[in-house]
Amino acid sequence: MWGFALLHIIALAGLVLAVTGALDVTAGDWLLAGTLFYGRAFFVAIGYHRYFAHRTFEFQLWCRRAARFLLAVASNTANQGGVIWWTETHMDHHRFSDQEGDHHSPVTSGFWWSHVGWLVGTQKEPVSKAIHLRRAPELVWLERLHWLPGLLLAAVCLWYGGLSGLLVGYFVSSVALLHATFTINSVAHLIGPQRYQTGDQSRNCWVLLPIAVGEQWHNNHHNRQARTRQGERWWEIDLAYYLLWGLEKVGLLSRLN
Ligand SMILES: [Zn+2]
Ligand SMILES: [Zn+2]
Repeated sequence: MWGFALLHIIALAGLVLAVTGALDVTAGDWLLAGTLFYGRAFFVAIGYHRYFAHRTFEFQLWCRRAARFLLAVASNTANQGGVIWWTETHMDHHRFSDQEGDHHSPVTSGFWWSHVGWLVGTQKEPVSKAIHLRRAPELVWLERLHWLPGLLLAAVCLWYGGLSGLLVGYFVSSVALLHATFTINSVAHLIGPQRYQTGDQSRNCWVLLPIAVGEQWHNNHHNRQARTRQGERWWEIDLAYYLLWGLEKVGLLSRLN
């Protein structure tokens, strides 16, 4: 809660200083923000969601454990909690989708609750348990330090770009990425067509295409949760899948579902 509020306050301060000219923000700072937004959007889609929560692909055996840990660290830079907590909350989302027990349903609890309300104040413990992740001691250890990779990335931005690199490059992109992810919980359960009758209100929300790197085909995903590829038709652009497809071709991944 407090970390969440602090991120927003600092990002807002950065924007105000940038707009008023009190802070000298360069094109390089905005480029850094864009790079960190899209770079980490891939880690949210590929890490938290398609790997940890759904196990839609696997790494080759020779690098599996190290790659899994590094992917967890990289995902944590998006400031979305530990991979175990993210996974268990998301397991609840699919288990109770748009019903009592879904932590962030706009259908049962309204738009703002599904977007940010559920993260503010006391949170309910997830009912589901990610046993496959809880068995890995390094992930359980990282769970307690999930805030650290984000903090280290902030320090790198300060070193690389100074105060404007920190405020605009890191904080503004971090908050933008949080809300881009939240739109999948809120908007993608309200707006867009439903190809499949999945028993919930998940939608293929193409309007989120510029910010969601493939996660916008949310009704497809609810229909086949274990599938790596969420864009099913050729025109359903799924950037996260294209990247995973490429990583499989170079021999880093052992299977895509
Ligand atoms: Zn959903
Ligand atoms: Zn999912």
